[in-house]
Amino acid sequence: MKVINPATGATLRILRDDTRDTLQDMYMRLKVTQPKWAATSLAERMKIIARFSQLLQTHIERLAGILTSETGKPLQQSRNEINGARTRIQWMLDNAEKFLADEWVTNSDALKEKISYEPLGIVCNISAWNYPYLVGVNVFIPALLAGNAVLYKPSEYATLTGMEIESLLVQAGLDPNLFVVATGGKETGEALLTMKLDGYFFTGSYKTGKYIYEKVAGKMVPCQLELGGKDPLYVADDINDIAAVAAATADGAFYNNGQSCCAVERIYVHEKIYDEYVNAFVTSVRSWKLGLPTEEGVYFGALTRPDQLKVLEDQILEARAKGATLLLGGKRIEHEGNFFEPTILADVDNKMKVMQEESFGPIIGIMKVNSDAEAVELMNDTDYGLTAAVYSGSQERAAQILSQVNSGTGYWNCCDRVTAGLPWAGRKHSGFGATLSHQGLRAFTKTKSWQMKSE
Ligand code: NAD
Repeated sequence: MKVINPATGATLRILRDDTRDTLQDMYMRLKVTQPKWAATSLAERMKIIARFSQLLQTHIERLAGILTSETGKPLQQSRNEINGARTRIQWMLDNAEKFLADEWVTNSDALKEKISYEPLGIVCNISAWNYPYLVGVNVFIPALLAGNAVLYKPSEYATLTGMEIESLLVQAGLDPNLFVVATGGKETGEALLTMKLDGYFFTGSYKTGKYIYEKVAGKMVPCQLELGGKDPLYVADDINDIAAVAAATADGAFYNNGQSCCAVERIYVHEKIYDEYVNAFVTSVRSWKLGLPTEEGVYFGALTRPDQLKVLEDQILEARAKGATLLLGGKRIEHEGNFFEPTILADVDNKMKVMQEESFGPIIGIMKVNSDAEAVELMNDTDYGLTAAVYSGSQERAAQILSQVNSGTGYWNCCDRVTAGLPWAGRKHSGFGATLSHQGLRAFTKTKSWQMKSE
C-alpha cells in the first residue's frame, strides 16, 4: 500500500497490506492477552491511558506533521485535533470509574442485586481518515479502559497516524498484544469481517457501514455505526449579529475543508436576512487562506482523497444546470495535489445533489426560506440524521424547531462540534449506537445481572 501526500503527490511510505494469515496471528496474540488485561484493575488501565495522553502532548508537533502529511489537513488543525483528543481522553478518565464500576440495585441481607460491566473481548475498530485521532479515541480508549483488546484498522489514508498511536500506547505501558494495527484498505477490512471478533465498531460512509452491518449480522455481536451526514443549519430572522453568525457558520461548513461528519452541509436562511447573510458569508470565506497545509496561517489545505474532486465537480455542474448561482469558487485548482476552490452556491433547492448527497468537501449550498415551518420541513428532507443547527436570538424558538428535527444532535447558536460528555449518535443513514458520554463508555461492555440470595 502506497501512502501518498495529498498536497504534493509524493509517496511517503510503502507498507505491506495485512493478509488473512497475518490478521489471524494478530487475533491469536490478542486473544491470549485480553483476559489478563481484563483482570487488571481499572486504576491500572487508567494509568496507562493517562500516560498515552501525556505522550500525545509531548510529541504533538511530530504527530501533527505526520497527520498533515497523509491527510492534507492544515498543521494548526492537526494540532487542534490532537488537543481535542486529549480533552476527550481526560473526560473518559474522569468518568470511567463512575460508569464502569458495579452498580448496586438492591443490597439487603436477604437479597443482593447488581449490574456488572464486563468487556466484550476483542473489539474490531474500522476507522475513517478525516479525524483519525478523534474518531479513534472515541472507540479504542473506552474499549481499552473497559478491559478489551482492540484490533484497529485505520483508514488507508491515515495509517501512519494509526501506527504512531500503536507505538505510543506501547510506550505508555500497554502490552503490545492488546492494541494492534491492521494495515490496508477495503480488502483488509473485508477480511476482518470474516473473523470471530466480539464487536464491530465502524466509522465511515453509509455505503460501507451498511455493508458491514449486513456482513456481521449473523455473528450476533454488537455492531455500532458512526456514518455520514448531510447536516442542515437554519438561520432565523431574529439573530443579532449577521456578520458574526455568517463567519461562525462558514467555519462550520468549511473547517477541515468540509471533511467532517458533522460539517454544515446545507444552509437555510430566512428571507428577511438572506441577502445580508449571504454577502457576509462570502466575505468570510474569501478572507481565509488556501495553500500548502504545512504553511502556517493556511485554512484550506488539500483534500485527502483524489476521487472527491470529481464528486464536487458533479454536484456543482448539476446544481448550476438546475438554476443555482455560483458565488465563489467552483473548480479544482490546477496544481500538484488535491486542491479545490472553496465553493458557495446560492439559489439552490432540495432536489439538487448538493443539498441531498454528502459533499465532504469545501462546498456549500445556501437556500432562502420564508418561515420556520418551511425550514423544519427542508431540514428533515434527508436520508441522514446526524446533527442540525439553528441560529436565533431566542432559545425557545430554536428549541421548538430542533425538537421537530430528526437528528442525534441539536445545536443552538453553534455547529460542527462534539463534546465528550454527550452521546455522539446518528439516526437513519447516519448510523446507530453512541460513542462518548456514559453510553460510549459502556458501549464496549456487556452487562451481567447478578441476583444473589443468602441461603
Ligand atoms: P469509508 O466508508 O470509505 O471507509 C471507512 C473505513 O472502512 C476505512 O478504514 C476503509 O478501509 C474501510 N472499508 C472500506 N470498504 C470496506 C469493506 N468493504 N469492508 C470493510 N471495511 C471497509 O469512509 P471514509 O472515507 O474513511 O470516511 C468518510 C466517511 O466517514 C464520511 O461519510 C463521514 O461522514 C463519515 N464519518 C462519520 C463520523 C461520525 O462520527 N458519524 C466521523 C467521521 C467520519
